[in-house]
Amino acid sequence: MALFAFDNSYARLPEQFHTRMAPTPVAAPDWIALNEGLAEEMALDADALRDAPDVFAGNRIPEGAEPLAQLYAGHQFGGWSPQLGDGRAILLGEHVAAGRRWDVQLKGSGPTPYSRMGDGRAALGPVLREYIVSEAMHALGIPTTRALAAVTTGEKVLRQEGPLPGAILTRVAASHIRVGTFQVFASRDDTEALRILLDHAIARHCPGADGAMGLLRHVMERQAGLVARWMGLGFVHGVMNTDNMTISGETIDYGPCAFMEAYHPDTVFSSIDQFGRYAWKNQPDVALWNLAQLATALLPLMGDREAAVAEATEVLEGFRDLYAAAWTEVLSAKIGVPDMNLGHELLDIMAEQGRDFTNTFRALATTPDRLRDGGRMDNWLDRWTACEPDDAAMRSANPAVIPRNHRVEEAIAAAYEGDFQPFHDLHAILRDPWTETDANAPYREPASPEQAVTRTFC
Ligand code: AMP
Ligand code: MG
Ligand code: MG
Repeated sequence: MALFAFDNSYARLPEQFHTRMAPTPVAAPDWIALNEGLAEEMALDADALRDAPDVFAGNRIPEGAEPLAQLYAGHQFGGWSPQLGDGRAILLGEHVAAGRRWDVQLKGSGPTPYSRMGDGRAALGPVLREYIVSEAMHALGIPTTRALAAVTTGEKVLRQEGPLPGAILTRVAASHIRVGTFQVFASRDDTEALRILLDHAIARHCPGADGAMGLLRHVMERQAGLVARWMGLGFVHGVMNTDNMTISGETIDYGPCAFMEAYHPDTVFSSIDQFGRYAWKNQPDVALWNLAQLATALLPLMGDREAAVAEATEVLEGFRDLYAAAWTEVLSAKIGVPDMNLGHELLDIMAEQGRDFTNTFRALATTPDRLRDGGRMDNWLDRWTACEPDDAAMRSANPAVIPRNHRVEEAIAAAYEGDFQPFHDLHAILRDPWTETDANAPYREPASPEQAVTRTFC
């Protein structure tokens, strides 16, 4: 029996879409984790997968795979990079089961023609971070790429901190098509490739959508909903470059991402985000900026240029309303009352008082009186209580536990010392973020000043 039921539609696209190549084998693959829950969702045989760490290390090509590195480009921090592409990832193939299609990609699998200066590899820490945070996002109900497996390579990778153990993540996604995938063909004036990509993306993600404008509308709706949900969790993506924005509407690329603890709208974690371009509060605007790049790339497929520019502009102008509707839904559920003035006023108080984002909202659903401060908050709570807030809505919108940065860092630090237990414990805790338990109590505590993580690195 084959491990996967591969049907590789991306491999069938013309050759300028990708470079066919196998992952580079590693010295000594060893398991970190196999996501058995996801394996089950994908109708995979977990026992068979467990016997195949060499497949997840790129040392053996599973039956039916047609490995390749995908080409794309993108705007990075607003600056145009004409060629990016999978510099350290290989798409093994598309697994089809239960009426769904999943890209199965190895990340950290060796150099490709798109590696530029990079080594094509991933260090253990970032692999664990992506595993933990992407799976936590899924448990929190956020559309996201998933982590099917993680292995160590038995090889070192050289990073700023020195030589670190290498690892490979198996990332699963509805697809890896990005805004930057459209941009690369647009920038090369390859309208034929652009059209083929459009048809491919529509067939995969929005069958029935009406051409390029239809795809744009679809991606806009998805991204408006996605970013509103990030905002509702205090999630800061950190690198919202156009190559890190999917057409599917899944969150992708967990680099210097982090969840806020003390609420402040200007919060930014990434060490390379000097000017706060991707700060929490800027994420909706950046999403629109990225969508404008998508619209620009799609223009050659929209017929008469002048008319297309006018229509695309009108479509993009609709983003503000789409986002406002999505954010209204999110924030209304979080306070259990459909009153945005009340919601924004609470955020204002939280910012002024440096309240923990997650715990403040959760307390509204569980123990609101504990939020009382004998001042501005009391006044707010009195008016809010008078609105008879919806407890059930608040409980399912305000998680009890999120992957706090210091916990993620702690799990990574222990793994670097050879102890993977904190990683497994954290992952297990985050599988049920919606209830307070004795086990998750320590994970609900904000970082102490000594534990606090204020900067994250790619
Ligand atoms: P990111 O910032 O993670 O979205 O990555 C941007 C680009 O850099 C993508 O083309 C990646 O494939 C590439 N890249 C990141 N890290 C490495 C690495 N260690 N080796 C080769 N390419 C990399
Ligand atoms: Mg990326
Ligand atoms: Mg990355």
